[in-house]
Amino acid sequence: MHVFGGISNVIIGSDGLKGLVIKNLIAYKKTIEEKEDYCLLRVSGGYNMTRLAKETAEFGYEGLEYHLGLPGTVGGGLCVNSGWYAHPPSKYIGDPVHEVCLISKDGATRIEPKEYFHFDYDYSVLKKTGEIVLWVDFKLKKADPEELFQHGREALDYRKKTQPFGIPSSGCYFQNIDGKSAGRIIDQAGLKGYTIGGAQVSTVHANFIVNTGHATSEDVQKLAQHVKETVKTKFGIHLEEEIIWL
Ligand SMILES: Cc1cc2nc3c(=O)[nH]c(=O)nc-3n(C[C@H](O)[C@H](O)[C@H](O)COP(=O)(O)OP(=O)(O)OC[C@H]3O[C@@H](n4cnc5c(N)ncnc54)[C@H](O)[C@@H]3O)c2cc1C
Repeated sequence: MHVFGGISNVIIGSDGLKGLVIKNLIAYKKTIEEKEDYCLLRVSGGYNMTRLAKETAEFGYEGLEYHLGLPGTVGGGLCVNSGWYAHPPSKYIGDPVHEVCLISKDGATRIEPKEYFHFDYDYSVLKKTGEIVLWVDFKLKKADPEELFQHGREALDYRKKTQPFGIPSSGCYFQNIDGKSAGRIIDQAGLKGYTIGGAQVSTVHANFIVNTGHATSEDVQKLAQHVKETVKTKFGIHLEEEIIWL
């Protein structure tokens, strides 16, 4: 069984997937606790991340506003601990997590605290366990909605300016290396615009491989391999995939 959210961080090979495929679009949210200085908000795993970023900013709940413009869902974002890296310190979806309800492979549900997930850059324990996020309780500080919106807009504008918006891709292809931008390294290797079949190293952001129309998964794989080999030869740097290949 495979569970996805927005399928925005995944590439599926031409052979397809065997077994049951679930695209989780279950969308609900409710306030669990409201205090003077914070709100505990329960959000389903299938909730759209950009919608949540917008709504929480509107309510004046701080912690998710920088994810405005992030494709995908809360569950997918939590699994890979999606982030906003433009200005330090980085902001991750895992940061404001209080606890999470999971379904394990045997179908049992249980609740785990934030510590269980070992959130890190492009990592949560869910990448290893394959457990499914049913809902998440976010603990969000109260703040000025206008200020939160400003941060959200800043993030969205930055994404629009620096990422290939509106062209099919799966987001950043390779992981950054010790905080060093993989995109900058690929750019310095002279690979922007390099094309194999229908797959191209984006001319906007070199860590995005875009589909110019009819890319096959083999085109993407060959192009990624070329990028890896070129970067290794030129700089001695080994790039690791951020994309999840299935
Ligand atoms: C244009 C573009 C821009 C992007 N910008 C960013 C960015 O700024 N920062 C960033 O970090 N990423 C970025 N990404 C990558 C991606 O959008 C995010 O990582 C996103 O949060 C993934 O969510 P998703 O729902 O699409 O996950 P999917 O791609 O559907 O799944 C990703 C992984 O999560 C698992 N999963 C999905 N739902 C659940 C669930 N309910 N429970 C448990 N596991 C689940 C899947 O099995 C899979 O292993 C970008 C992608 C694109 C296309």
